Amino acid sequence: MPPTAVVLFTSDLRLHDHPPLRAALRSADAVVPLFVRDRAITAAGFDAPNRRAFLADCLTQLDAGLRERGGRLVIRAGDPVEEVCRVAAEADAGEVHLAAGVSGYATRREERLRRALAAEGRRLRVHDAVITAVPPGALTPASTDHFAVFTPYYRRWAGHPLRAVLAAPRTVPVPAHVRSAAVPSSTDVPGVSKGLAPGGEAVGRSRLTAWLRGGAAAYADRHDDLAGDATSRLSPHLHFGTVSPVEVVHRARRRGGPGADAFVRQLAWRDFHHQVLAARPGAAAGDYRTRHDRWRTEDAAADEIAAWKAGRTGYPVIDAAMRQLRHEGWMHNRGRLLTACFLTKTLYVDWRVGARHFLDLLVDGDLANNQLNWQWVAGTGTDTRPNRVLNPVRQARRYDPDGAYVRRWVPELAGLPGPAVHEPWRLSAAERADLAYPERLVELAEGAERFRRGREQGRR
Ligand code: FAD
Repeated sequence: MPPTAVVLFTSDLRLHDHPPLRAALRSADAVVPLFVRDRAITAAGFDAPNRRAFLADCLTQLDAGLRERGGRLVIRAGDPVEEVCRVAAEADAGEVHLAAGVSGYATRREERLRRALAAEGRRLRVHDAVITAVPPGALTPASTDHFAVFTPYYRRWAGHPLRAVLAAPRTVPVPAHVRSAAVPSSTDVPGVSKGLAPGGEAVGRSRLTAWLRGGAAAYADRHDDLAGDATSRLSPHLHFGTVSPVEVVHRARRRGGPGADAFVRQLAWRDFHHQVLAARPGAAAGDYRTRHDRWRTEDAAADEIAAWKAGRTGYPVIDAAMRQLRHEGWMHNRGRLLTACFLTKTLYVDWRVGARHFLDLLVDGDLANNQLNWQWVAGTGTDTRPNRVLNPVRQARRYDPDGAYVRRWVPELAGLPGPAVHEPWRLSAAERADLAYPERLVELAEGAERFRRGREQGRR
């Protein structure tokens, strides 16, 4: 029998620039492209509806791409280690190829897989620079195992040579006898956000091309414009790997200019958070740098948390962003900063409560980027100014100067003209009564005092 290899797809659901697939095709005559629906991820509640639907689109397009090349995708469900071993035995595969993961869970999965395969005389080959542009651990400061501050990391990252982009294979021969479950369909997933964007490699690639031709040029000036929606929206594609970070960086650099440079810098933030999580897997659940906060949790602040989640805090820009999240399964970065800051530093609620809610809804919900951005905002992460507070009114005036973003997402306020929409409490009591919009949950000064006191008590 000709040698066969298994390629286990995880967060790399593409055919272009896929080192594990190319390596498998070089060393074997046939491959089994495999995706395992991992029961542990379902049990942990991590396959929330928006991501499950987007994933179904990705698998559908991956299968279609493989069929165009004479193959198909094999789908199994269960424990990934058991399923990979089973498929490898069915295909009599000598090697299994996999992209290196970042989280503690991915690292443990890799180790279990290596041992289980070795026990059967098979080899695991793990490939770097598939899920990030620069592999975690490739850049380290002199004295420790990872960078804890972005700027010095970025200086090194920007000068680090990237591997070349790999073309998609022309043919992918897959042995006919290996069984597969049906490819899931996004239309079967209940509870999906109405405005959720579609997934898949073809969608991701055309978004990338359109972005580099169009919006990227103005990115440096416009990325914070809440109403302008002038960012790439590539985050779910990067999360599921329908576009390759290495290819995105190469193509953006080729495009050049201040917009593309600023965009590439954001991709470095993605790698930065991945290298932090790879070195400190505990930061997914615990403070990266504790400030000994005495956060309020679900018990103490249930009503305020519910109002924050529902987009009914009485602060229009916060409510607009929270409603965008629910409607689209995505939120503008400036909105994420403001809503996370409001929850942690005005309501003084534990960052984990907010991070969990984001993971329940975000289509790009990603352990490294979500947990470490939440920690950055909460002041327990890598921000060098851990007590910084973003004032939602000042920020709204600056990043939504005409109020168009708020009017789009908060219809109760759609009749208020211009920036007046950011401060409905300035209206008369009679005008406010007509609005059916909530009063502010808390005054900003009171929230700031709550946060200051909490931090001070923690320090004692
Ligand atoms: P663009 O502005 O076009 O940026 C391009 C890419 O760079 C993004 O797709 C993303 O991969 C990366 N990027 C941009 N900003 C950041 C950042 N601050 N940190 C890390 N990578 C970045 N991003 C996620 O992908 N998943 C998350 O779960 C997530 N949760 C977040 C939670 C909070 C509280 C905050 C403040 C930010 C979070 N981000 C997260 C980062 C950022 O908000 C999104 O990546 C970005 O808004 C996605 O939109 P875009 O693709 O249009 O970004």
